[in-house]
Amino acid sequence: MREVDHFIGGAFSPAASGERLARENPATGEPLRAIARGDAADVARAADAAARAFAVWGRMPAAERSRVLLAIAAGIDARLDELALLECEDTGKPLALARSLDIPRAAANFRFFATAILHESSESFATERPARAINYVLRKPLGTVGCISPWNLPLYLFTWKIAPALAAGNCVIAKPSELTPTTAAVLGEIARDAGLPAGALNVVHGLGPEAGQGIVDCPSVRAVSFTGGTVTGRRLAARCGERLIPASLELGGKNAAIVCEDADLAVAVPEIARSAFLNQGEICLCSSRILVHRARMKEFTERFIDAVRAMNVGDPLSPESDLGSLISKAHREKVLAAIERGVADGGVLACGGAIPRKLPARVADGAFLEPTVLLGVPAASACVQEETFGPVVTVHGFDRHRDAVEMANATRYGLAASVWTRDLSRAHRMAARLDAGTVWVNCWMLRDLRVPFGGVKDSGIGREGGHEALHFFSDVSNVCIATGEAP
Ligand code: NAD
Repeated sequence: MREVDHFIGGAFSPAASGERLARENPATGEPLRAIARGDAADVARAADAAARAFAVWGRMPAAERSRVLLAIAAGIDARLDELALLECEDTGKPLALARSLDIPRAAANFRFFATAILHESSESFATERPARAINYVLRKPLGTVGCISPWNLPLYLFTWKIAPALAAGNCVIAKPSELTPTTAAVLGEIARDAGLPAGALNVVHGLGPEAGQGIVDCPSVRAVSFTGGTVTGRRLAARCGERLIPASLELGGKNAAIVCEDADLAVAVPEIARSAFLNQGEICLCSSRILVHRARMKEFTERFIDAVRAMNVGDPLSPESDLGSLISKAHREKVLAAIERGVADGGVLACGGAIPRKLPARVADGAFLEPTVLLGVPAASACVQEETFGPVVTVHGFDRHRDAVEMANATRYGLAASVWTRDLSRAHRMAARLDAGTVWVNCWMLRDLRVPFGGVKDSGIGREGGHEALHFFSDVSNVCIATGEAP
């Protein structure tokens, strides 16, 4: 797909302005897409289509909505190879990863919420005084909602918002990242073929301050679910606050992996390496600070660096590649600057830190970067404090478990943490004191779609997943029915 158009009212259309954004393949540097550059005028068209569709979709029984959403999941499965390749081209991630993680998870998101709505229930309260009544909680769709997502896990995160929004009976105006728009466009086609009423899902492309801002400002948008950077999230939340509409914000992270002295390193080393470098470290949940008990520091560091050195950086199309290209050369510059900062502040480069020299000719001009491990960077360094969102980790020693918790909490973020220990009571005590929306013990990114997902502190507000997402996309009314005295 070369030209990526909006999907509005069940049909593809270019931007009202006629303008397009050029996007290149980050792994090869070749021109890739010409993307509709949407703005408020396109959002207004999407809002009209959504309002019309709500009369159908918003009234459809849950079982029928469920059937359509399951058909969308099947449609994603059926186009797995095509979607995985598009995702690989847009992001530079390994094709094998897009095939095994991104696209299957997008289908799972639809399947999960399609079936979740069949099992929803609501609370009721029997009131006795001052008069007898039954109160019950009625949840209704909001109408039109906005979903805005980032570039790192494009279809995975896009559908993580859209599936619950649609499942709850809303119509959606959604914007994928301008860097990775293509699978979102294909999703429109899949949804149409699955029988989703025209206008229930509208995909508007373009830049954040234009198309994204247009969604947040659109008068008929009743809630916004956003995943992206903390700076953008803060701005978006301020605008939603002004408009008095709810915003769910999934933002940045600077996640710690804590390796206790009794950790099973045969499990911890490969898993922490995966947690640091999966998707080139471009996952909000990636470990970026590894805190190791000093009793195991030498052993852990040696084994960890060996594991990282064994990782292949290369052509995303090759099944041999563990890491592909970063999202862009501009982003690679930012990641390299963070590494330089760490070294300037006193850190030592244990491995990586450079652009790989031996790349196949096809990808010789791509935005690749070696997986990088830094030792001895002071905790106050921007390299340890700020989100890098790339293949970089810092390793730090600790003496007491309470110090590890303090170190883990000593950033403004609070998205996720992992604890590696055989002592589960200790893990529980640490989890209770960690500032993190998710704590994994002896595992990482093991996701159950029923659990609440989100961050604390600058990592966000609100929770996605399970009932939390369905509730976010619903209005709540309490209905109080006077029942009179029992005979
Ligand atoms: P970003 O904030 O630059 O952009 C995210 C989305 O917001 C894009 O679609 C963008 O076009 C849009 N946008 C930008 N400005 C906007 C505005 N003024 N109004 C409305 N929309 C606007 O983030 P990014 O660079 O695409 O993604 C990387 C960030 O996302 C990282 O910080 C990462 O941690 C975060 N992230 C968080 C999670 C999570 O679940 N917490 C998951 C993935 C990524």
